[in-house]
Amino acid sequence: SKVPDITLNNGVTMPQLGFGVWQVPDDEAATAVAAALEAGYRSIDTAALYRNEQGTGRAIAASGIPREELFVTTKLWNTDQGHDNALRAFDASLGKLGLEYVDLYLIHWPAPARGLYLETWRALEKIHADGRARAIGVSNFPVAQLRHLLDEGGVAPALNQVELHPHLPQTELRAFHAGHGIATEAWSPLGQGRGLLDEPALAAVAAKHGRTPAQVVLRWHLQIGNVVIPKSVTPSRIRENIDVFGFELDGEDLAAIDALDNGGRLGPDPSSFN
Ligand code: NAD
Repeated sequence: SKVPDITLNNGVTMPQLGFGVWQVPDDEAATAVAAALEAGYRSIDTAALYRNEQGTGRAIAASGIPREELFVTTKLWNTDQGHDNALRAFDASLGKLGLEYVDLYLIHWPAPARGLYLETWRALEKIHADGRARAIGVSNFPVAQLRHLLDEGGVAPALNQVELHPHLPQTELRAFHAGHGIATEAWSPLGQGRGLLDEPALAAVAAKHGRTPAQVVLRWHLQIGNVVIPKSVTPSRIRENIDVFGFELDGEDLAAIDALDNGGRLGPDPSSFN
């Protein structure tokens, strides 16, 4: 199962499907990331908040996979916002990962009430200019905060990682991204495995293709152009979630999945989360 690359607005390429490690304890992260690398994943999504950068880094080192074949993302936590704090937090993340650079560094949340994301972005621009992050981007940024960065920042964000799944397809935000060269990355792409995957409409499409509901949802993401980072610690599901390149949804399937939009958000509202 060969994962296609997408090209970010600075020319850097990124696998369209990667492996997320939120809520995976550090020691288990090493095992789970090893299983993901074994299954063929080459993109890993972690964050300082997840407290598993060390386990992730250990699995990367132990894999023996050449660094340039991997795409590693980590994120700056809200309490580390501010120019100098961000530079320090980045050094700490890099040290825990045991890497000389990351492929993508993200501001985890805009935390608008802190009033620091623009100044934080300037620190990410410096990290990028120094070659220590091949690309920089944001996460959980609504249109208003994206506009602010585009207007005031020097480098446009390569990507915005947001909650996105068939219950919350983020149609307006995706259109804004498309109009401004910002890639859309979906977090909780499977709706965290609860509720969404039990939708009868997904069971019907899955039966039609001889696939699972999770595979159908991942295929929907890929076909509408999202980058996806499904998480699992179960080796069989880790393999299942990357085995999504041998079938294609048709227009009818996509429409049935589009109809699942109910605005259901699993995480906090980024406009008021600080
Ligand atoms: P997800 O949508 O990837 O769902 C993961 C859960 O779904 C698993 O724990 C399991 O219970 C279930 N599951 C996985 N594969 C399955 C399968 N094949 N069949 C049935 N059930 C299956 O949820 P997530 O972990 O919240 O999101 C993925 C990644 O996104 C995270 O690990 C993290 O890297 C990232 N993330 C980022 C943010 C952010 O604020 N930037 C927030 C949440 C998650």
